[in-house]
Amino acid sequence: MLIFACMDQKLIYFDHAASTPIDLQVLDVMQDVAKDVFGNPSSVHEAGRRARVVIENARRSIARNLQVTPAEVFFTSGGTEANNAILWGCARDLGYRHFITSPLEHPAVLNPLETIREQHNIRIHLVKVDASGHVDLDHLAGLLQQHPDAVVSLMHANNETGTLLPVKAVSKLCHDHGALFHSDTVQTIGKFGVNLRDPNIDFAVASAHKFHGPKGVGFMVIRAGNFFKPFVLGGGQERNMRAGTENLYGIVGMAEALNLAHEGMEKDQRHILALKKTCMTMLKEKLPGVAFNGDAEGSSLHTILNLTLPAVIDPDMLLPRLDMEGICVSSGSACASGTTKGSHVLEALGVDMQRPSLRISFSRYNTPEEVQQLVDVLVKVSG
Ligand code: PLP
Repeated sequence: MLIFACMDQKLIYFDHAASTPIDLQVLDVMQDVAKDVFGNPSSVHEAGRRARVVIENARRSIARNLQVTPAEVFFTSGGTEANNAILWGCARDLGYRHFITSPLEHPAVLNPLETIREQHNIRIHLVKVDASGHVDLDHLAGLLQQHPDAVVSLMHANNETGTLLPVKAVSKLCHDHGALFHSDTVQTIGKFGVNLRDPNIDFAVASAHKFHGPKGVGFMVIRAGNFFKPFVLGGGQERNMRAGTENLYGIVGMAEALNLAHEGMEKDQRHILALKKTCMTMLKEKLPGVAFNGDAEGSSLHTILNLTLPAVIDPDMLLPRLDMEGICVSSGSACASGTTKGSHVLEALGVDMQRPSLRISFSRYNTPEEVQQLVDVLVKVSG
C-alpha cells in the first residue's frame, strides 16, 4: 500500500505532545465495535440503540475517570473544536465581554479569541507571565478585580514548555470573583488524575490522540449548567450541543485510552519522569551551555522538556538534521513545528531566538536507550 511505502525506517519518536501512537488495546476495542456496531446512534431501531449504548457507556467511563457526571461530557472532533465551541459560546450565547488569558496559550485559544474580538466586540486582557511561563497570580487577581464578570482561559500545562498552572489557586481566584474558568487541559488529561470537581474547572477540553487514543476525537466538559448554543450546527446530537453523527469508533477508542491511561498512571508518570531527568542530566553533562526553557526542574509536566542548544547549528537546520537521523521532535505547536523561529511561547519567555530550541516530549513507550540515542545525536549535531 502506498501510504506504508516509507514505513520501514526505525524512528525514534519524541514528539508525543504533538500526537501519540495508538495503544494496540485501544485499536482492538475499536475494531471489535466497528465489526459489530454500525447503526446510527440517533436511529430508534435496535442497530441504532446498540450504537447509542456504546456511546453512552464511553461517556460514563470518561466521566468516572474525571469525576464529573456523564451529562457534563460532550464529544467533539478534538481539542481545537472544544476550545472554539467554549470560547464562542461564552461570548455569543452567555454574553461574556471580558476574556482574561495569557500570551502563552495554544493557537486553538488565541486565534478564536482574536476572531471573536472582531465579531463580538469582546475585550481580551493578557495576564503577565514570568520567564518560566508561570502566570502572575497578583496580576490575575488585579484583572479579576477590574473585570469580575470575565472568562479566564489559562491552559493547565503549556504544550511547548510543560510549565504547569496552579489550577487550584486560579480556580479559587476566578470563583471568588465570580468569573468562569476555562482551562485547555489537552496536554494533561490522561497524564494526571485531573479531577474537574476539585479544583473546580468550569470548562475543560481533551483530545484522544494526546493519550494513545485515535485522532479526530475529543471532548469538552461543561460544568454547572453553563450551556451554550452548538458551535457545529445541524442535528440535535450531544443534547443539542454539537451536531453531527457521533464518531462512534473514535469515542470508544478514546474512552478505552483514557481508562488505560488512568490504570497505568502512577507507573507511567514514574517511568516518564525518570526518562526526563536522565535526559536533562546527560545533556547538562555532554552539552555545556544547554538551557532548559520553562520550569523544567520545577512545576512542569513530566512528558515535556524544552531546551535551547548552544548556538552552533542554524536554528532552521536543527529539526531537519534530527529528522535525517530518524529522530522526531518538534519546536512547539503544530503551526510552529517546522521551525524554531515560529514559537510565540519561547519568544514571550525571552528565549534567545538566534539559538536552536526544541521540544522533546516523552511517553510510556520511550526507553532509556532511546534517550541515550537522542542525546548522542544532539551532541553530534551541536559539535
Ligand atoms: N490545545 C493544546 C494545548 C494542544 O497541545 C493541542 C494540540 O497540539 C490542541 C489544543 C489542539 O488539539 P487537537 O489536535 O485535538 O485539535
